[in-house]
Amino acid sequence: MTTHITELLSALGVSSSAFTGGTLNVRSPIDGAALGAVHEASAEDMRAAVARAHAAFLDWRNVPAPKRGELVRLFGEELRAHKADLARLVSLEAGKVSSEGEGEVQEMIDICDFAVGLSRQLHGLTIASERPGHRMMEQYLPLGVVGIISAFNFPVAVWAWNSALALVCGDSCIWKPSEKTPLTAIATQALFERALARYNAAGGTAPAHLSQLLNGGAAVGEAMVDHPQVALVSATGSTRMGRAVGPRVAARFGRCLLELGGNNAIIVTPSADLELAVRGILFGAYGTAGQRCTTTRRVIIHESIHDELVARLDRARAQLKIGSPVEAGTLIGPLIDGASFEAMQTALAAAREQGGEVSGGERALASQYPNAWYATPALVRMPAQTDIVKHETFAPILYTLKYKTLDEAIALQNEVPQGLSSAIFTNDIREAETFVSASGSDCGIANVNIGTSGAEIGGAFGGEKETGGGRESGSDAWKAYMRRTTNTVNYSRSLPLAQGVKFDI
Ligand code: NAD
Repeated sequence: MTTHITELLSALGVSSSAFTGGTLNVRSPIDGAALGAVHEASAEDMRAAVARAHAAFLDWRNVPAPKRGELVRLFGEELRAHKADLARLVSLEAGKVSSEGEGEVQEMIDICDFAVGLSRQLHGLTIASERPGHRMMEQYLPLGVVGIISAFNFPVAVWAWNSALALVCGDSCIWKPSEKTPLTAIATQALFERALARYNAAGGTAPAHLSQLLNGGAAVGEAMVDHPQVALVSATGSTRMGRAVGPRVAARFGRCLLELGGNNAIIVTPSADLELAVRGILFGAYGTAGQRCTTTRRVIIHESIHDELVARLDRARAQLKIGSPVEAGTLIGPLIDGASFEAMQTALAAAREQGGEVSGGERALASQYPNAWYATPALVRMPAQTDIVKHETFAPILYTLKYKTLDEAIALQNEVPQGLSSAIFTNDIREAETFVSASGSDCGIANVNIGTSGAEIGGAFGGEKETGGGRESGSDAWKAYMRRTTNTVNYSRSLPLAQGVKFDI
């Protein structure tokens, strides 16, 4: 494994000094093998990085946006050229199966393409003024330094969602990745530096330190969160993290974009195409070993089809191939670490206590991989939506619930504190439209006849309630990375006041 990782990182432009001799030990969730020891930044390093980033911002904000887009275009080219290697590294460090590792890098490429187009579309409005000889307009201008905190389960795509937009918006970036996945971050940074060098060699004027990477744990993140020159903190991770970060940023009147935990449900109605529903639920619940913010954690099934659908899910669940994520045919890779496996066992014990009937959920492949943590996917038949069902356990556990009326199903779906993703499987147009209406799902994402996970970058991504309320990626999410100014221009020879106010001298 170690020789392999050195070759892989070298192909991505990373020298061995970047991942050896440090204090942050990196282990592969596949087999527990050591992958490297990365240098950790201190809080003081972070403060110095923010000062450098601010200087970079002062230059970058004056580069025309379409020219900023050219840098992101070149970065997208680097990603295309190195897709296979970076995807492999995602699998080795985060434990994602190969097609999901590739999908993650594809998502980075997609957001770069989106951002390049956006760089020619950063538009404001012209608004009718009530005063003669006046014009009122709105502009979006570069915001400042954007701090990006990311989680282990999307070790590189989440950074790209933020940085591709921030860079075309004229901001500089600082990235504090998960302490569990520093190598993918180092490799991504190397590809970005390569793009930046090509950009400047071709006559571009990108400043040094435009996008910096600082590895480390929560303390380094906190130094970023507290720094008054970080205009926007975009933080992805658990609700616990958001609860710590949100108030600290608010205390200094900074801007925060929070992308936190989910507890996503699929409702299956009597008219649903069960074939589609089974496939959507299985991928949603057990893909990425249940470690997606959009993972399906609850399925709410009409009583008339409940027993049949649960039996089908249970049979299919038991056949999903568990194994090393880099082996062909594997559908379920490892949990990120032993603490995750423990959290899964604790949740299953609580579910049993609260009346649940558990299938699966045991440790798997322990003799082959004694230092890694694989689990069989769990299905838990719950008599009601008890406390444990309302809690996000970041593991492959699917709770099944029964309903009688659609109102009851929607109430169950909305009853949890999180509000990220949701779906309904139905062929009844009234049910589908009700679900996406004002009295339907209260989530940021509400789908019909597809599952809860696997969003495209064109839409705005994020959720309500304890998910944090942030939106990133597509649609008009770019506005979070810019400051809006309203400008009123008087081209007349008089000075009328608004609302007819008189102040004659
Ligand atoms: P985590 O909260 O443990 O860590 C996330 C990041 O926050 C890490 O970089 C960590 O170092 C940092 N951090 C933790 N405490 C901090 C603090 N006080 N100040 C500053 N930074 C701090 O999450 P995780 O285990 O890496 O990821 C899993 C969680 O992330 C799940 O809850 C999942 O739902 C969520 N997630 C949400 C989204 C989304 O878009 N909504 C996407 C991916 C993951």
